[in-house]
Amino acid sequence: MKLIYTNENCFLVGNIKNIVQRKGIPVVLKNEFLSGGSGDLAPHDTWLELWVVNDADYDQAMSIIQDFNDPIDREDWICSSCGEKNSSSFEFCWNCQTDDANKGRQ
Ligand SMILES: [Zn+2]
Repeated sequence: MKLIYTNENCFLVGNIKNIVQRKGIPVVLKNEFLSGGSGDLAPHDTWLELWVVNDADYDQAMSIIQDFNDPIDREDWICSSCGEKNSSSFEFCWNCQTDDANKGRQ
């Protein structure tokens, strides 16, 4: 197992997880159950971590994340379910979690 991504924002880590999984790469989240009510831990200790199960998938997973972080050709989109504006980096509506990133783009 190798760590491929971590962020203090659980939503971003979950978003990356969905994107990598869609490419058929098995991943697991760590620290998933530590993010609430852990006031005694340093903040970094509670960051969600995304790991690839197979080390062989590491390079591909990292390139997927790199593509994701490169905002070329991506625009903000409007959720057709709740009407909220979403950043291009979100596959799911931040407000209602509708998987609408592609439908919402005109
Ligand atoms: Zn929405």
